[in-house]
Amino acid sequence: MPIYEYLCENCQQKFEVLSGIKDGAQVICPRCRQDRVKKLVSVFGIGGRGSKTSSSSCSSCSSASCSNCK
Ligand SMILES: [Zn+2]
Repeated sequence: MPIYEYLCENCQQKFEVLSGIKDGAQVICPRCRQDRVKKLVSVFGIGGRGSKTSSSSCSSCSSASCSNCK
């Protein structure tokens, strides 16, 4: 099930919402209860490793292939 990630513009809290809600439905920040939230990216599946920005498989370098890469 797709998950939508939101960022609260009021308190900068990131949170995820399952896609059960309809488009246009108001999303409220679970932390501060404000509705000034911004949709970020859709993530498929729970536990996606979305925090890494590079496509590298190596944890100590940013290149796609190096001597440390497995
Ligand atoms: Zn908030």
